[in-house]
Amino acid sequence: MSTDPRVGLGHDLHRLEAGRPCVLGGVTIPSDVGPVGHSDGDALLHALTDAVLGACGAGDIGDLFPPDDDAWKGADSAEFLTEALRRVAALGFRVASVDTIVIAERPRLGPWKEAIRTSLAGMLGLAPDRIGVKAKTAEGLGPVGEGRALEARAVVLLVSA
Ligand code: MG
Repeated sequence: MSTDPRVGLGHDLHRLEAGRPCVLGGVTIPSDVGPVGHSDGDALLHALTDAVLGACGAGDIGDLFPPDDDAWKGADSAEFLTEALRRVAALGFRVASVDTIVIAERPRLGPWKEAIRTSLAGMLGLAPDRIGVKAKTAEGLGPVGEGRALEARAVVLLVSA
C-alpha cells in the first residue's frame, strides 16, 4: 500500500433535454431525455475526471478542456478521463479505487449500473470490485427530482504508481 495516498472528489450537474443522447460512464442509455453539454454531456465521466485531477492537484476539467473551445464540441468524454489518467500517471500515481453516485429521476438507472461499472473498469484499467456505481433519485425534490437535471458525484483514491 502506498504511504502517500491521495483522495479526489468530483461533482457535476447537467440540464436534461428531450432528444439528447443519454451517455453515462460511457454507456448510451435508452431515454427520451439526455444531459445538455458542450461535449457528449457525460456527467459521470466529468465528475470522475475532476476527482482524478483533483486528487493530485492537477487542475480541473474546465482548465484542461475549456467549454468555449470548439475542439471539444460533441467530444467523447472518455477522452477527458484518458487525458486525466495520463497526467496522473506522469505525476507518479495510479487509480486504486473509485466510487460514484448518479442522481436522476429519469431515466431510471438501476438496470444500467453493472454496464456502467464494466465500462468504467475498462477505461480505468481496474477490476470491477474496485469501482462503485450507485443510482439514486432525489425524491421528487429540486431540479434533479423534477427531472430537469441529472447529477453525478465521484471519489477517487490515487496511490503511487
Ligand atoms: Mg459536465
